[in-house]
Amino acid sequence: MDAVQAIRGMNDILPEQIGWWQGIERATREVLENFGYCEIRTPIAEKLELFARGIGESTDIVEKEMYAFADRNGDWLALRPEATASIVRAYIQHGMQADPGLRKFYQIGPMFRHERPQKGRYRQFHQIDAEVFGLESPKIDAEMMHMLSLLVERIGISGVALNINTLGCAQCRQIYRQILKDFLVAKGDGFCGDCMRRRETNPLRVFDCKVEGCGQLLQDAPRLIDHICDDCRAHFDAVKDYLEKLGTRYTVNPGIVRGLDYYVRTTFEVITDKLGSQSAIGGGGRYDGLMRDLGGPDVPALGFAMGMERLVLLLQQEKEMAHRAPRCFFASLGDKAGESAFLLAQQLRGQGIETELDYEGRSLKSQMRRADKSGARYVLILGEDELARREVQLRDMLTKTQRILPLENIVETLLATDSEQ
Ligand code: AMP
Repeated sequence: MDAVQAIRGMNDILPEQIGWWQGIERATREVLENFGYCEIRTPIAEKLELFARGIGESTDIVEKEMYAFADRNGDWLALRPEATASIVRAYIQHGMQADPGLRKFYQIGPMFRHERPQKGRYRQFHQIDAEVFGLESPKIDAEMMHMLSLLVERIGISGVALNINTLGCAQCRQIYRQILKDFLVAKGDGFCGDCMRRRETNPLRVFDCKVEGCGQLLQDAPRLIDHICDDCRAHFDAVKDYLEKLGTRYTVNPGIVRGLDYYVRTTFEVITDKLGSQSAIGGGGRYDGLMRDLGGPDVPALGFAMGMERLVLLLQQEKEMAHRAPRCFFASLGDKAGESAFLLAQQLRGQGIETELDYEGRSLKSQMRRADKSGARYVLILGEDELARREVQLRDMLTKTQRILPLENIVETLLATDSEQ
């Protein structure tokens, strides 16, 4: 009988790879918490309606990629394809606007999209997500992009570019929609079926199209950035000004329209040229109207999401993973010594000293080989003779020196040795 395999596009993260993930998570918590972000954890499934309303009915995510299903009660649910809508829901549901002023959240976790799996594109993938509610000031747009650049650097990734753009407000967008629609109609019917449909329903989405012919037809399309109102222009100019003052390098790229309907004003993406076609490692923007559209208060907001699989792929290209090694390895010879070693190892662990040991009474040679491979700094060696004398040998694998220590207070001795380092 064939063994059951994981679902295509949903991967195991094995112990050999977990170091990359833990490093990224550590850096994320450190950097984001320094900027005043608090962790929030929302469920991985929500009512389907939340994403349909929050992300937009005519976006690729909602139309083609959502893991939607009816549960046993016949309620329509979906596995979350992104985190923003859920965090906004939680903010409204728990009345967090009653606590006046600024709120900053972050979330780390799996997202689900039914896409065609390939390198850097999966069906279950993980995102670092950050959201800020309650501030219209361009300062926060700039601060968020500055923080994102710092985070990427802290994770250990170099050579990425921050691309920024503005999508204007709802009013600028309405005017631009018509200008774009007129342009698309004037171009004739050479677009793909999707774009022909988008022309009617959601013209801005044509820029997400990957069909080459459509790309060519769009080359001289009018640009939203040239049709924004004075307020939006002033906001964007201020964002750029703050980024310069913060020393965060950026490029204005009018092509950054993002795949979701809810963005207004600032949008941005962090891109790399090291991952082939999956060049975006993160992106986000402002979504001032979303809260109201989801039945909440009129609170301005912005956020970003960064894909962790792509960060791991980049890290693997750039540097060696730090090897996680135990502090001690407990080697023993003979049944009685093995028994004592087992008990003492638990005491060491209980005191916060990471300890490995032999459970099976293997030969000393084989235990020493394992100790060496584990990378442990200290090896404790306990034979029947040592046990009879209530002693233990302590070998420092770094200095290659060996000492004999009394067994009674070995835990305290090791703790003291540890704090000397
Ligand atoms: P998005 O919300 O689509 O802008 O995604 C934000 C980030 O999540 C992207 O820049 C990617 O790094 C990552 N991402 C999105 N979709 C996938 C996927 N299917 N597989 C892996 N990473 C993804």
